Amino acid sequence: MVTAAFLVAVCASRPYGDEPLRRPEFSGQQAMAHLESICGLGPRVSGSPGMTAQRTLLVNHFRDAGARVTGQAFKTEDRRTGKPVHMENLVIEWHPDRSERILIGVHYDTRPFPDRDPVDPQGTFLGANDGASGVAVLMELARFMPSLPKPVGVDFVCFDAEEYVVGARDPYCLGSTYFARRYVADRRADPRLHRYRAGVILDMVADKDLQIWQEQQSVMWPDTQPVVAELWGVAARLGVREFVPRPKYTVHDDHVPLRMIAKIPTCDVIDFDYPAWHTTADTPANCAPESLEAVGRVVHAWLLDQR
Ligand SMILES: [Zn+2]
Repeated sequence: MVTAAFLVAVCASRPYGDEPLRRPEFSGQQAMAHLESICGLGPRVSGSPGMTAQRTLLVNHFRDAGARVTGQAFKTEDRRTGKPVHMENLVIEWHPDRSERILIGVHYDTRPFPDRDPVDPQGTFLGANDGASGVAVLMELARFMPSLPKPVGVDFVCFDAEEYVVGARDPYCLGSTYFARRYVADRRADPRLHRYRAGVILDMVADKDLQIWQEQQSVMWPDTQPVVAELWGVAARLGVREFVPRPKYTVHDDHVPLRMIAKIPTCDVIDFDYPAWHTTADTPANCAPESLEAVGRVVHAWLLDQR
């Protein structure tokens, strides 16, 4: 006879050392831990040491999880000094053999300054929500990607320089614009190249008080409308009330070049009502694991719905 105490002892001893137990659901706690480790690197402005450190962290994380990771490097110039700045998108491919694909994009750079901060607009901008939140969702979502059933493959794309801006005339979305142009050129050169069926941008998805209204352009464009309907439909099915099924804000985000240049029907998932937006208060303290979990669950279930 096996005593209860013996059973407990057996269960507590793990045969493979410290290997974590398999968690079946998207974990907001785990995503939050990723958000905190990204913020621990400090600001991640395009071309900065913090960005380089983040890139190393992400390449290692996604390769360890089983993805093919490639950098897509390009140069831009610092508009103040005229010096060249190294920019690099990261393309993280799951099941690269599948030609029909979904793109999930985030920006991983942080704004150079918290210019909306009422006290310290030249201070430190950490970008916990505006920068790290989308990346953190992808890092946790990675656990589910190797076993994603057919037919679609998925590319996570971390875009550089979504907001490498200081002056009012500085352009936004440099990384996604570069990516979109490359995709068009590559497909022109080889029409058999993979095709993106749809895309989703995740941006500012960790606000403690999360409310994701539908983005106006994503609702207006006929080709992105179905993507919006699917995502908010999944949210309703799962009871995720943070997804509000009505349009509100118009946002110029990375979905615009993807849709307008690359013709990928891409919807923006963003909570644009964030009190700490572009201030020194955009820190992990104003983010919540529950919010990351709400978004992660919806995106994961939507991927599983693909036929
Ligand atoms: Zn921003």
